[in-house]
Amino acid sequence: MVDSSNLNIAVVGGGPGGYAAAFLAADLGMKITLIDREANPGGVCLYRGCIPSKALLHVAKLIDESRHAKSWGIEFGEPRIDLARLRSFKEGVVNKLTGGLGQISKLRKVKYIRGEGNFENSNTVRVVKNSGGEETLSFDRIIIATGSRPAIIPSLKLDSPRMLDSTSALDLGDVPSTLLVIGGGYIGLELGTVYAALGSKVSVVEMTAGLLPGADRDLVLPLHKRLEKSFASILLNTTVTAVKEEANGIRVCFEGKDVKEHEKVFDKVLVSVGRKPNSEILGLDRTHVRLGQRGFVQVNKHLQTDDPAIYAIGDVVGEPMLAHKASHEGRTAVEHIAGHKVAFEPNAIPAVVFTDPEIAWCGLTETQAEKEGREIKVAKFPWAASGRAMTLDRTEGVTKLILDPATERVLGVGITGAGAGELIAEGTLAIEMAALAKDVALTIHPHPTLSETIMQSAEVFFGTSTDLYRPKR
Ligand SMILES: Cc1cc2nc3c(=O)[nH]c(=O)nc-3n(C[C@H](O)[C@H](O)[C@H](O)COP(=O)(O)OP(=O)(O)OC[C@H]3O[C@@H](n4cnc5c(N)ncnc54)[C@H](O)[C@@H]3O)c2cc1C
Repeated sequence: MVDSSNLNIAVVGGGPGGYAAAFLAADLGMKITLIDREANPGGVCLYRGCIPSKALLHVAKLIDESRHAKSWGIEFGEPRIDLARLRSFKEGVVNKLTGGLGQISKLRKVKYIRGEGNFENSNTVRVVKNSGGEETLSFDRIIIATGSRPAIIPSLKLDSPRMLDSTSALDLGDVPSTLLVIGGGYIGLELGTVYAALGSKVSVVEMTAGLLPGADRDLVLPLHKRLEKSFASILLNTTVTAVKEEANGIRVCFEGKDVKEHEKVFDKVLVSVGRKPNSEILGLDRTHVRLGQRGFVQVNKHLQTDDPAIYAIGDVVGEPMLAHKASHEGRTAVEHIAGHKVAFEPNAIPAVVFTDPEIAWCGLTETQAEKEGREIKVAKFPWAASGRAMTLDRTEGVTKLILDPATERVLGVGITGAGAGELIAEGTLAIEMAALAKDVALTIHPHPTLSETIMQSAEVFFGTSTDLYRPKR
């Protein structure tokens, strides 16, 4: 075992990967320097990603529910939106969290340097400070945690305040009368949901045949149906070929087999076509770090790069680009540096789309099984038969287990419905614990809850569900 108290470590990038790594390293007694351009740790997730988007989605949900309440016999007036107060609620959440991380850094005696970290060589970082000046420091190990940024398609590059990316969309400058979201991935759909609730007529354009490419179609269907009502239009199999600024908006040109209107003007356009790793770090070529396809830093299962002194974690090393993957990788890297026997080999990383309804999955998906020609059994429980879903008036959901036919082991879990993001953790635990369908069926779940639908899916597998009636053949 390495005596970690002698180690001097730098972490470049203070997102959920970087600060988790830095804080654990400090707890293990290492001397830690954390470098980031922002005033406090937090990264994309806290400043312009997960957290601000979820604060706004919470408000969007409230607006939608207040509108829907009419059908339950309660009528509210049309919501009056005070954008300045909404912005300050969101910024307050961000400031509290990032400020808290700043405090925790100090308490843990992490040296926080605000600036850009570049490489002099495998063990030396040069920091160009935000406040001016430079500092060159040497370390035993360096962890790259520089994250990612919105991808840009050159033909859609237009220098105009009417063109948004996820960062400027979260700034909530105004509520455009019409908004086109380019890209039907989770970030575009989440932000589209926010703007639609605030009153924009939102259209989404996606070049593939369905929203959320890669997710199982049966999980996406209930969301698609709901978005058809809350969005002005959903354009599939459609590519945006050009954008041009005009006096009253952005003229957008569409191409594709299903296109009916080839040009249309939108007040604002949000480009949300994926994310790019921040791997163009100055001086990285003076190390042995290797970049792979799409610019991701190449690492082994210990998160170590080809340069033994340098580790890399989070979005900069690849998909899935999610905060919880970044923080687990950060912990693994630090534990490996400390000489622990560890590897980053999860059986399941949960993914959540925080739209309404939410979609969440983990482990093997049906889409993936089909691609790999892998035999599976799928057991589904429709929320139309869930008492809890009925009380919430949200019966469009579905819960499914993806099972190994031979061992009956849970390989994957997929959920669509209100609160799916909270429910999926049970599925992730089941997969990590190698649970069998029987374990899930025999685990007593509280009633009436949506969590029962996980147990009920397992009962469907055995044909013993008492909440569903399936005539015997
Ligand atoms: C709108 C939006 C919503 C999202 N919602 C979710 C969600 O709900 N759940 C989820 O899991 N994920 C979500 N994500 C993704 C999530 O934000 C990322 O996966 C996560 O932040 C990655 O963490 P990271 O530590 O790898 O890097 P990042 O969070 O990207 O942080 C990297 C940090 O490094 C800094 N940096 C970069 N280069 C340098 C340098 N050379 N020197 C010093 N500092 C540098 C950056 O300024 C940044 O602060 C969302 C992203 C967006 C954009």
